[in-house]
Amino acid sequence: MILRRRKYSDADRILTVFTPRFGKRLLIAKGSRKTTSRKAGHLELFNHVNLLVAQARTWDIITESVTVEGFFQLRSDLDAISRAAYICELVDAFTAEDDEYEPEWELLLFCLRELNEGLSSEPDLLLRWFELQLLRLMGFQPELFSCLGCADDLQPVENFLHLSAGGVFCPDCGRKMQGAELINVRTLKILRHLFRTHWDGLRGLRVGSSTAHAVEGILQRYLSTILERRLKSTDFIHRLRQAQAESK
Ligand SMILES: [Zn+2]
Repeated sequence: MILRRRKYSDADRILTVFTPRFGKRLLIAKGSRKTTSRKAGHLELFNHVNLLVAQARTWDIITESVTVEGFFQLRSDLDAISRAAYICELVDAFTAEDDEYEPEWELLLFCLRELNEGLSSEPDLLLRWFELQLLRLMGFQPELFSCLGCADDLQPVENFLHLSAGGVFCPDCGRKMQGAELINVRTLKILRHLFRTHWDGLRGLRVGSSTAHAVEGILQRYLSTILERRLKSTDFIHRLRQAQAESK
């Protein structure tokens, strides 16, 4: 799946490609900026492609490409394009090179197909579902079912949310937590529903605009908390490696 394209030279592009077995790869597409290039059409954003790659010293080079799925309907709808771009960006932010990402890859493919077919009456809800499923697969799922303080099952009452602590607290524990905010019954219910149900079972789901707005806001803030932490830790690992290399 092609997540990102950027200009490399007058004729060439660097593509960020997401694969189920080798993680994210940066590849050079030679001549792909020329409109006459035979390869150009296969290497569009979001395309599901089969690639043949030649190893090179810096970035490997794409020698052959065949489109498996081009998601053509999606491309005629600006809203669908921006939704697809958003989920690709999230995958790009959460994944690394040379790891296996089979379920994450399947999830991305599923959502691109869903956007392409335009089946969902609530496509924004599909994005929320995608966010929660990606968080779950990457091991960053927020706690939505039992209190982070006392581990009791959360009751259908107004509970407390604490994003940097990683989820929800019962009223007794949450009241004592600095930085905790109230989360209403409906919002928590939708978050849980999106978390534990496959999208096939959610297509007809209707969510009021204020709840949809609340769910979106919570997930956006939670994602940035996680991504900031991740950035800091990869930065830390990078510096550690550099220090080790220098001491040798
Ligand atoms: Zn508690």
